This record gives sequence, C-alpha cells and structure tokens, in this order.
Amino acid sequence: MPPTRSFFRHTKIIATLGPATDSKEMLAKLITAGVDILRLNMAHASHQWVDDAMWHIREASSEIGRHVGVMMDVKGPEIRTGRVEAPIKVSAGEVFEIHLEAAMPTGDVPAVSTNYPGLPMDLETGAIVLIDSGLIRMRVLAKDEQRVRLEVLTPGEIGSKRHINLPGVFVNLPCLTPKDEEDLKAGVKAGIDFVALSFVRQASDIRTLRAFLDALGSPAKIIAKIEDQAGVRNMQEIVEEADCIMVARGDLGIEIDYHRLPLVQRDLVAACRAAGKPVIIATHLLETMINSPMPTRAEISDISNAVREQADAIMLSGETTVGKYPLESVQVMKNIIESIEPSVSYDLNRDLTLPSPKAKLLRSAAKLAQDMEQSAIVVFTRSGYLAYTLGALRARGAPIFAFTDVESIFRQLLLPWGVEPFLIEFFDDPEETISLSLKILRKKEWVEKGTTVAVITNALAEGKVIDTLQLRTI
Ligand code: PGA
Ligand code: MN
Repeated sequence: MPPTRSFFRHTKIIATLGPATDSKEMLAKLITAGVDILRLNMAHASHQWVDDAMWHIREASSEIGRHVGVMMDVKGPEIRTGRVEAPIKVSAGEVFEIHLEAAMPTGDVPAVSTNYPGLPMDLETGAIVLIDSGLIRMRVLAKDEQRVRLEVLTPGEIGSKRHINLPGVFVNLPCLTPKDEEDLKAGVKAGIDFVALSFVRQASDIRTLRAFLDALGSPAKIIAKIEDQAGVRNMQEIVEEADCIMVARGDLGIEIDYHRLPLVQRDLVAACRAAGKPVIIATHLLETMINSPMPTRAEISDISNAVREQADAIMLSGETTVGKYPLESVQVMKNIIESIEPSVSYDLNRDLTLPSPKAKLLRSAAKLAQDMEQSAIVVFTRSGYLAYTLGALRARGAPIFAFTDVESIFRQLLLPWGVEPFLIEFFDDPEETISLSLKILRKKEWVEKGTTVAVITNALAEGKVIDTLQLRTI
C-alpha cells in the first residue's frame, strides 16, 4: 500500500435537485461541497423549471470555478394513479377499484383511475398490485376490460398521481412516452449532459432513445435505469447498449423480492465492470437524513458497501430534493467515501477486455501510476473513451487527469470513477498540449512539484503519429 497522499476521491456524488436545493445559493454550496452531477427528475418538473435550474447551475458553477454534469431523468413507462380530490383512505380487507381513464368507476367501492390502458389486460386474478411506491398492497379479485377489483392487503392513503408497481408484469407501454419526448427536447435545448431512462426493459429501449437524441443532435450519454424484472433479466444486453447503468433500488426493491436486492446490485456492478461502463447506486442511501441531521448506522454501512463495490457514483434523491439536510447529506457521503476508499482493493479490473493495443496501453499506464505511488495518469481524449476506460480499470490511488477540448465530453467525464476532467485547447504539436496540461495540474495544485506522472499521448516519430506512454516529472 502506498503512503496516503492528500486525499483524492474516486467515487462520485450525484444529487437530485428539488425545492430544497434549486436556488443559486444552495447550488453553489452543493457544488462546493463536492457534488459532481446534478439530476433533474422529470416526474415533478416543468420545462420552465428545467431552464431556470440549468441557468442557476451554470451560473453557480462559473462563479465558484467548479463544473458539474447535468442528468435529465425521464420517466419512461411509469404507471400512476390519476388525480383524486382528497386522499382516499383504504383499510385491510376492503374492496378497491382501479379503472381506465376512459371508463367510469362502478361507484359501489372507492376507486382511482390509471394512466395505463393495459392494466386490466396484464393482470391475472391473484396478482399483486402495489400503490405509492410499494406502501399499499392489493390483490386482484376480478377484472373486466376497463376495471380491476382488488382486495386491500396493507392499509394506507392514496393521493394523486401515486406510483403503481406491477411486479413481474411486462408493461406494454412505449419506452419513451410523448411526455418524455417533450421533456427531452426541453433538456437538449437547455444543454443536458446525460439522459437517464426509467424502467429500461431491453436493449432496444436504449436504441430508441439514442435515435431520438441523435435526431435532436444531442451528444448526451444514456444512463439505463434498471428497476424491474425485465431489466434485470436483460441486464447483459442493456449494459452493452447503454453508456451507463443506474441501480434504481427504489423501484427495484418493489419489483423484485427485496431480499434479492443486494445480489442484483452486485450482479449489475459486475456486469458494468466487465463491460467498462460506469454504474450508479441510487435511492435510500441516506433516506433518514431527509428529516435527521445524522445517518443511521445501516445507511453508513450501505454507502461503504457501494464504495467497496467500487461503484462509479452514489446518488441522493429525496435527501436533496425535499430533505431538511441536503448539504449535510453530501458531506456525510463525502466523509464515508474518504474514510472507506483507502481500504478498497488495490487490484486492477481484470474482467475488462481491452481489444486494441492502445487500449492495452491503458492498463500498463494504470499499473505504472500505482507502482510509482503518489502519482497520477494524464490522458488526452476527444471522445472520452480513453478516460472512461481508465476509470473502469479502477486504479485505486492513481487519479486520472483527463484533458479534452470538447466541452460536452468534459462534463461527461465527471461521472466515471477517479476521473478529474479539464477543458483545454489542443495544439497541433502534442508536446505543447502536454506542457500546458502539466502546468495546469501544478497551478491548480492537483499534483506537487517533483511528482512523476504517467502520460498517455500521441507523439510524432518519423513523420507519423504514434501512441506513447511517457514518464513526466512536474
Ligand atoms: P426514481 O428512480 O427516483 O425516478 O423512481 C430511482 C429508483 O427507482 O430507485
Ligand atoms: Mn424509479
């Protein structure tokens, strides 16, 4: 183990924006505290809010001189209850009805509508329906073409637009709804860096989204949220097609047996590791901090587990949207990361196959930087591929300083594990670009004078451009 350097954090922090955090002042505090990426959750957002949030984010960023990536989370094939005038109380043993928006309720029992026309079709007698993110449990008693009758198993109150989960049902809704398309147009106009797609069930969902983004001319990277049984079943093909995976434990914990959640999390992390794709662990990491200034012991363990599994990023949701302690939540995550990371495995990722000689060179660079101790990797990239791959190699203790001249790539490099991106201009002569980058690292105090770093770069030899790995001392 190398001696401890002044701490460099590999695990990234994502925070979801909401009323508790969407002011410019609060954003500046969050970014200063260490948030790397901000999530705009389109379940509750208007397009005006997106524009305002984006404006505040970029203003706060440039004022404090620290950039963040922005992720738009679109809701995909989500099923919800309709609006109700007042919350409906339901008790165990009672009969309840869910009807299609186009149909009238029967009228003899309490009822709500749903946005999903396929609901009666998809449900068999005896099937379980969960309302309000799993809180209220019901069992199907009978159905016709437009209505489902259910027995309430767990009591509760049903408000407007509550989330409905149908565990194990392959929901027959398009992967991109008309609302998602409108949201994406607004997001692309505002300049989002990532799109997270909810309830991804198969690789073709990603292809559909990619075609849509391409048509809008957006370079945004695609994050596939795995949150139901179809997504878990098809994880292999989804990991291959997407740019990144989110383990969306909120819905996943309802859609699959809750006690299998840690196994699915482990499998998804492993699949991403083998494919060299970033993985985000989301939801309930600090749930109790919505109301409490301190995490529970279980939450501390959950976060340290994600850090040990070497997830690229961990995400806050309610903690930073409506919570009382958004800033403290970020600080708690950071403290746990700083405390746990130095004990994380020092081994490089052996599951990742690197096809080209240049890609193989990355593994050597990672090894070299680790062996030199207190060192770092410097890389130049236009597509981001080299830096994403270096991140996937998990060279613990070796920061990856990634220089790019493409602004969108620059912000997308804020996601992968251990990558610290810089936006610069590239010169025709690679040597000039290297000197500039080393100067920046020194000036911004990312490295101390006298440090030897591993630099992956092009060089000219006999009139040709060749790939090189150089040792450069700052
Ligand atoms: P959501 O997704 O917060 O958009 O529901 C995350 C999850 O389900 O965990
Ligand atoms: Mn979800």
